[in-house]
Amino acid sequence: VFDAETLAQNIRKVPHWPKQGILFHDITPILQDPKHFRLLVDLLVYRYMSEKIDVVAGLDARGFIIGAALAYQLNVGFVPIRKKGKLPFDTVSESYALEYGEACVEIHTDAVKPGARVLLVDDLVATGGTMQAGINLIRRLDAEVVEAVSVLEFSDLPGGQLIREAGVPLFSLCQSE
Ligand code: 5GP
Repeated sequence: VFDAETLAQNIRKVPHWPKQGILFHDITPILQDPKHFRLLVDLLVYRYMSEKIDVVAGLDARGFIIGAALAYQLNVGFVPIRKKGKLPFDTVSESYALEYGEACVEIHTDAVKPGARVLLVDDLVATGGTMQAGINLIRRLDAEVVEAVSVLEFSDLPGGQLIREAGVPLFSLCQSE
């Protein structure tokens, strides 16, 4: 059977990357295999193809890969939410706390229309800070996040709960402890 468990088995765990003590969950093995990449996109297409979605927004950078393929299949547009300083036109920004220091993400002010129904995509939810910042950006443009989508959610971290408490359902294909 080809299902989300197949995807989970193809996430590579890399110890001590990008620094000592971090176990990095690498989704590139899914992307580099044509069947697994298709499975990943198709599982999401089946979930959303009958929903009213106006646009898919993807978080820098792996959210671009998954989000763009999904948007293309849903026949809707794709919007990048980028790390600070990368987008050329007028932007709104959201800063958020990292384990050490701060991060900032941006969206073009004309990227989503007021009232638009947006799917927000990233590869992974850990603390939920990145996804939460994406939600805030879309809301600041008066659009609605219909659902937040990730390949993997760490169920022992409060990230998923944080997003759901913000009033956005989180759909994760795989869960990890
Ligand atoms: P959070 O903001 O939820 O703490 O972290 C999630 C963000 O950091 C996502 O944009 C994700 O791409 C990146 N990230 C953090 N840890 C990992 C990891 O172990 N694997 C991958 N693929 N991304 C990670």
